[in-house]
Order: sequence, then C-alpha cells, then structure tokens
Amino acid sequence: MPEPILPKALKKFDPKDENPCAGCSNCCEYVSLEIDRPTDLTDFDQIFWYLVHKDVWVYIDDEKDWYIQFNTPCDKLVEQRCGFYPHRPQLCRDYEPETCVRYGDGDPEEYLFKNETDLFNYLSKKRPKLYAKMKKKYELQKAKKEKALA
Ligand code: SF4
Ligand code: SF4
Repeated sequence: MPEPILPKALKKFDPKDENPCAGCSNCCEYVSLEIDRPTDLTDFDQIFWYLVHKDVWVYIDDEKDWYIQFNTPCDKLVEQRCGFYPHRPQLCRDYEPETCVRYGDGDPEEYLFKNETDLFNYLSKKRPKLYAKMKKKYELQKAKKEKALA
C-alpha cells in the first residue's frame, strides 16, 4: 500500500517573476487549523471521522504537527483573483508566494490524507498495532451490521 506523501515542490520560485500567482489560487481555496496530535485509538477514530466527510483532508507538516483542512474556496475569490484585496484579512497579507505550497518551501506536508484509505495506509506502516486494532474494530462492526440486516 503506498504511503500518502505529497511531493515537496510543485514549482521553483523565480524572484524575477512579476506575477508568481498567475494561474493559481490554491491558498484561497481552503481553511486549515492545527489539531491535537492523535496518539490512541480514540484520537485516530476522530481523524477517521473527519476523513469520511466530503472535502475534508488532514495533513501532517514537516514539523510533525497535524492539521485539518476544509477544502472550501474563499467567498471573495473572483476568477482566481482576490475580489476583496484592499480589505483582505491580515493572514492573507502575511502569506508570501516564496513560502507557499505551490513553490514548495513554505509548509510542505509530510503526509496528506484525503480519505480514510490514506489514513489506514499510513497507520499500517507507522502504527501497525493500532492499525490492527482499528481494522479489527471496523471489520467486527461491519460483520455485526450485516448480521443484523440479514
Ligand atoms: S501565494 Fe502561492 S498558493 Fe497562493 S495564489 Fe500565489 S502561487 Fe498560489
Ligand atoms: S480575502 Fe482574498 S486573499 Fe484572502 S483568502 Fe479570500 S480571496 Fe484570498
């Protein structure tokens, strides 16, 4: 099973490029929040729950911090440009292309989980005992449900 690892750099930053954001609106298309690092089965069950939701991802950055990401574009985005530029929040003002996800050096994810399969693949490699518990738990639940429906 492949580990859900993202490439570190999508593009090399060129300081002479006058419009490094051309054709990109990546950083305006999601909201991410740091979450507690999961340690036990209950914590990973919660991550599993996040990941069965549409357009919700979880990632681990290069400092091993965990984040939840909601893939929902900013309401002020107009044709890949900020339609609110003079009024945009400070967080948007502080974000620099040199350190963004497109150019690769800013906040490269170590792992990106787009769904529960990515999480289980990660756990099978990194936390095999916990993975075995999760596998057993959900297979048992599935078996019980099927029996109840029969
Ligand atoms: S800062 Fe980076 S991610 Fe955001 S629009 Fe520009 S190139 Fe894209
Ligand atoms: S306010 Fe503008 S810069 Fe900030 S996320 Fe929305 S579109 Fe992007």
